[in-house]
Amino acid sequence: MSDTLFTKIINREIPADIIYEDDIALAFKDINPQAPVHFLVIPKKPIATINDISEEDRIAVGHLSFVAAKVAKEMGFAEEGYRTVMNCNEFGGQTVYHIHLHVLAGKLLGWPPYTNKPKTLE
Ligand code: 5GP
Repeated sequence: MSDTLFTKIINREIPADIIYEDDIALAFKDINPQAPVHFLVIPKKPIATINDISEEDRIAVGHLSFVAAKVAKEMGFAEEGYRTVMNCNEFGGQTVYHIHLHVLAGKLLGWPPYTNKPKTLE
């Protein structure tokens, strides 16, 4: 796959507010936060969508949830609660084709999460 802007963030070619990094994953604040706390956890390996996760990626992708919880505990909102979500393709609302786990916290989050009328009903 071609590089997305998230590869550029991993390589420090464009700036981001990085809050966690290890060999497998990077976490940084979302540029357009949808909650008082909103950061993204991404694998360093570029994987375009959830559909492209291979057998060999399974541990790295599971690691994203581990990192989300680790950062949630360190930032102090783990017990209060938070939401993780990974969007897939157009109907899922994906706009950057390098998988990323959204972590949203700091307010009572509504359900269902979408605010627009579902496309299937248009
Ligand atoms: P998606 O819509 O693909 O699930 O989520 C992509 C997310 O990346 C969005 O929440 C968007 O605000 C965030 N984003 C897009 N460009 C940038 C950027 O240059 N820097 C950061 N930190 N976040 C970005």
